[in-house]
Amino acid sequence: MKYAGVIIDISHEKVDRSFTYRIPEEMEKDLRIGMVVRVPFGRGDHSRKGYVVSISEESGYDPSLVKTILSVENSEETTESRMIVLAAWIRETYGCTMIQALRTVFPIQEKMRNKEKRRICLAVERAVVEEKLAGLSPSRYKARIRLLEALLAAGDEGLDGTAAARTLGAVPSVTGPLVREGLIRIEEDNTWRIPFDRDSLPREMPKQLNPEQSEALAQILEEWETDAPRPVLLHGVTGSGKTEVYMELIRRVLSEGKQVIVLIPEIALTYQTLRRFYAQFGDQVSVLHSRLSAGERYDQFRRAREGDARIMVGPRSALFTPFSSLGLIIIDEEHEPAYASESTPRYHARETAVFRASEEGARVVMGSATPSMEAYFKTCSGEYRLVSLKGRYEERALPAVSVVDMRREMQEGNRSILSRTLAEAMKTSLDQGGQVMLFLNRRGYAGFVSCRSCGYVVKCRHCDVSLSQHRNGKMICHYCGYETETPVVCPSCGSRYIGGFRAGTEQVEQVVAKAFPEARILRMDLDTTRAKGSYDSILSAFTTHSADILIGTQMIVKGHDFPDVTLVGIISADLSLNESDFRSGERTMQLLMQAAGRAGRGSRNGMAVIQTYHPEHYSIKAAASHDYESFYKEEISYRMLMEYPPCSHMLILHATCENEELLQKGMFFLRQFAERNQDRTGIRIIGPAPESIGRIKDMYRMALYLRHPEEKLLIRIRKNLEKYIEANTGFRTIYIQYELR
Ligand code: ADP
Ligand code: ZN
Ligand code: ZN
Repeated sequence: MKYAGVIIDISHEKVDRSFTYRIPEEMEKDLRIGMVVRVPFGRGDHSRKGYVVSISEESGYDPSLVKTILSVENSEETTESRMIVLAAWIRETYGCTMIQALRTVFPIQEKMRNKEKRRICLAVERAVVEEKLAGLSPSRYKARIRLLEALLAAGDEGLDGTAAARTLGAVPSVTGPLVREGLIRIEEDNTWRIPFDRDSLPREMPKQLNPEQSEALAQILEEWETDAPRPVLLHGVTGSGKTEVYMELIRRVLSEGKQVIVLIPEIALTYQTLRRFYAQFGDQVSVLHSRLSAGERYDQFRRAREGDARIMVGPRSALFTPFSSLGLIIIDEEHEPAYASESTPRYHARETAVFRASEEGARVVMGSATPSMEAYFKTCSGEYRLVSLKGRYEERALPAVSVVDMRREMQEGNRSILSRTLAEAMKTSLDQGGQVMLFLNRRGYAGFVSCRSCGYVVKCRHCDVSLSQHRNGKMICHYCGYETETPVVCPSCGSRYIGGFRAGTEQVEQVVAKAFPEARILRMDLDTTRAKGSYDSILSAFTTHSADILIGTQMIVKGHDFPDVTLVGIISADLSLNESDFRSGERTMQLLMQAAGRAGRGSRNGMAVIQTYHPEHYSIKAAASHDYESFYKEEISYRMLMEYPPCSHMLILHATCENEELLQKGMFFLRQFAERNQDRTGIRIIGPAPESIGRIKDMYRMALYLRHPEEKLLIRIRKNLEKYIEANTGFRTIYIQYELR
């Protein structure tokens, strides 16, 4: 006997309420998640339509009380069905409850009242209306005649719907027949809440693609012509015009009557992206993100569903836009970590987009100047198609990059945060009227320890990642838990200049203000952008050249176009290079290449200076020579050797608990449980170990890592772990999240 979970009202807050029904034997074979079924509901012989959201062997109730599904509504393949299928896939792949998955794909919580504003307009030439009027019996059709005459008098503007109903009696029984005859039209265009000021957005003509862009376009269209189009990775250097290629693709997809989702890595980029797309596609474009009001969000969903909006721009969650005929998903800056959700379900937008697209017959195009290892790996295996743009638009030069060895600076007596090369380059840029960006690529909290004389970094002997310093003075590996004392002299050269890098953006600002008292300085980091609107005001001040130097964290590198920037300085490339994460080399290459890519985007040539204790590291060399491929080759051999993704897969259990001892005990049991599978499956288990932030808001945090080349096997093990955890009361107070890489 099989049972189905059925949701009666999908649209709003009822997603949490699923009801159990028996599946009749004859349906068992064909019933699928997402199908629309008719079920008995309420008293008597009432029935309702509902969606199947789960299928299981057990009902969880007394079987005699469970009602039976009446029928399957075969004709209905709705957008909702497809989103339920997507939710089921997310649940299966990433691990969460069906309710959490449904909440992810149907994020609307409450039904909002529509903003009502209708206009009644003539839909045909005046002569046609006049002829019609002549033929209408004045005694029978008083109201229709009154309305048509008023419309003739009103001209192109038409009449306000509400007012016409009141003063002319233009109620639906009057307007309905006229609409059906095609004489009048009821426009509801302006009834939507639009989350941006349309009048402030400029419009422009389509741009002509240059030969390289046209070639890239042709290759993508060629892929689309094949029987099973693969996702395309558009690898184009910064400023090569990837966005212009997207626009051309979008034009094609719209002309097929289909819709487009454009994903961007973060909300902060929404406005500038919207601006560019709106310029080309006007009111067909909308945005969807978490900062919209409930009403705005509700309306963007409706606009998408009803075909009023056909291009949706937004971060990760815009992937769940309910388009009925999705043609294309674009993922801009595909490599950005923000595409991975950090709360349950920890889905990755790239993988989820590829799944949604394959289910709905849509295509996926992802773009980056610095592709993720995952995406590039898949182009090498043939799973994705690689298309490249090698030059900047109009052959503007990529910036010249110099790498400064900070060990030499130290030896030659300069202990400042600014190397002599960087200070000189800043002077030259400023003297010539250019702008300067200084980038402090600090992300994490816990820091690595390194030697300022020889560059030695304290690393884990098992995992080949940097150890990080903890409160108790110990150095810990976040993968395997290996611990050691923080050295006071360098184990490699004996120098006493060994320690953590402490300077933040504020210190950099002080040093720069002292060295360049004349320059106008802006600082952009978490502190200076906390207030609403401060982010945009700093960026616009810099864009209009009201400041000469912008100092900031990662926030300043993403996608911004400042034409007057001629110099980008990276204060310490090692900050990201020595993070205790196997992706640190990849992240560093990406940050450095993207940061350098901010220089020289206008008419003047740009330059970048990278300060580092590891000038020989391949991440830094690749960034200095704009050579992604050679970085990839080195990095993939490291991942292969260490069995890190994408060469292998990793299932991470993130556990949090108030009680540190209980957490440790629980993690130990989980490890033991995983070990029981070990012989049969050959999975590798690492940890448990404290997370890089070991405690947040009094909750202790630990992680356990399982590795295996087969993703499917890790998914199976995760399901077993879920059952084990559910069955063990000891885990009640430990909260566990799964992450699959
Ligand atoms: P990417 O997204 O690859 O960094 P963009 O699409 O932002 O590059 O292009 C960089 C700049 O060059 C933009 O200002 C863009 O308008 C301009 N550009 C690129 N291609 C063209 C083109 N074919 N015609 C006119 N301008 C272009
Ligand atoms: Zn040393
Ligand atoms: Zn380790």
